Amino acid sequence: MLITELKEKEAILSLADGKKVFIINCHGCREVYFPLEEAEALQKEMESAGHVTGSITTDYICNPENMKLRLEKNMAKIEAADAVLVFSCGVGVQTISEYLEDKPVYAACDTYPQPGFQGVTPLEYDCDQCGECYLNITGGICPITACSKSLVNGQCGGSKNGKCEVDSEMECGWERIYRRLAQIGRLDLLKCPTQVRNFATDQETAE
Ligand code: SF4
Ligand code: SF4
Repeated sequence: MLITELKEKEAILSLADGKKVFIINCHGCREVYFPLEEAEALQKEMESAGHVTGSITTDYICNPENMKLRLEKNMAKIEAADAVLVFSCGVGVQTISEYLEDKPVYAACDTYPQPGFQGVTPLEYDCDQCGECYLNITGGICPITACSKSLVNGQCGGSKNGKCEVDSEMECGWERIYRRLAQIGRLDLLKCPTQVRNFATDQETAE
């Protein structure tokens, strides 16, 4: 099971600062807790401020076929937005980011683990529920699961021909992140302050 928790309100509002956003809510599967009331209150505030071009509220946004149809129906409103703001677990955000590859896609939530049944993700991307989601500075590609060393400050320097030095079958996650940031015109994010990972939020390392 896992829990999604809203990021700090200021952090979410700063993503929409002076921009238009399209909002996607995933009310999740039964394994995911979603902060419904807080998310609705914040979204109403953003709508009143004229920042929102439209929204989708659904479940299982990690199902690409399901989402593809919904995104296509709303494409005019998505195109009118500067970015897409996703209220979901990390897998949901990565699913949207993969589909809307030319649009900045931001995570409004952090994802934490909770003991109990964990569904299987039938996708190539994954969320390790690290409790401190980095997707907003990595172009929607999770550095924890896409990099063998879970590096959060860039490439280790060991990749060869785009492949990871730890696993030669795997694409270097940080090369993928670099390409994606270049595609959405956000290479500036690589200059953001050094990330100091808060391991207290990571259940695996805190144990
Ligand atoms: S950075 Fe990765 S592991 Fe951490 S919450 Fe985001 S998607 Fe999940
Ligand atoms: S080669 Fe790339 S994916 Fe592999 S450990 Fe280094 S930065 Fe991470």
